[in-house]
Amino acid sequence: MLDTQHQIVYLNGEYSPLCDAKISVLDRGFLFGDGIYEVIPVYKRHIFHFKRHMARLEKNLAAIRITVPFDRQQLLDIIEKLLTGDDQESVYLQITRGIAKRDHRFPDHTKPTLFVMTTSVTKQSKHGISCITLNDDRWQHCDIKTISLLPNVLLRQLAHDENTDEAILIRDGLVTEGAASNVFIVLNNKIITAPQGPFILPGVTRDIIIELAENAGLNVEQTMYGEQELINASEIWVTSSTKEIVPVISLNNRLVSNGAPGAVWEKINSLFQSHKQDLM
Ligand code: PLP
Repeated sequence: MLDTQHQIVYLNGEYSPLCDAKISVLDRGFLFGDGIYEVIPVYKRHIFHFKRHMARLEKNLAAIRITVPFDRQQLLDIIEKLLTGDDQESVYLQITRGIAKRDHRFPDHTKPTLFVMTTSVTKQSKHGISCITLNDDRWQHCDIKTISLLPNVLLRQLAHDENTDEAILIRDGLVTEGAASNVFIVLNNKIITAPQGPFILPGVTRDIIIELAENAGLNVEQTMYGEQELINASEIWVTSSTKEIVPVISLNNRLVSNGAPGAVWEKINSLFQSHKQDLM
């Protein structure tokens, strides 16, 4: 594995070592957080569900009115040049509205900035994480994968301050998602997760899990549920592209599923791992 400072990254048409990639301070990503990002897992050079990640990225760019500055094949070529071939790495892709004189309104003519880098991912060794519940005080467009992540950063830091790994967010008494993950519970033999809508990010991992579970004949409900149901759940999992499916074994300092990954998690995780193998 290369020293991160010298790994090659892509920025606006150039490949260079990370330490040499420079961006103007007038970039609207820097000044306003005016941009979109995407994170795509890669297993031994296999880019996992590229099309789904591209569909979300293009939808998000349209949502904030940035014209897509590439076609999918071009982007694929860029990504393939950056891959290291590690067992697991992730591609980080960021597009901002570009460089312009500082003004809140969109500039008339500006070229979007495109930045792409890969990061190697090491699997967490511990079996399960701890979480706390926090008030979801983010905005009304959590379905947009914007680089303006300050609320998520603050929530994750609060979780860290309490020696936990992730914050599970509650809005008006209902569970939305994690600070950087989607949330599933198992309650009365049903797998439950919040439906898509303005208050959750439509996670690619979430969608894959729902499909795998349904195809295996498991009962999945996409419905809002309350904090009490979260507390009563026999299992809780959080999901994301880099972390896959992680069992929560402690919530607000109380053990979940006796402090060990539950049987439904075992089943879903093994379906997910086989799905990965099938695609490689
Ligand atoms: N929700 C939030 C707020 C996230 O930041 C993420 C991932 O970073 C997710 C959900 C999971 O999305 P995905 O499975 O596409 O990584």
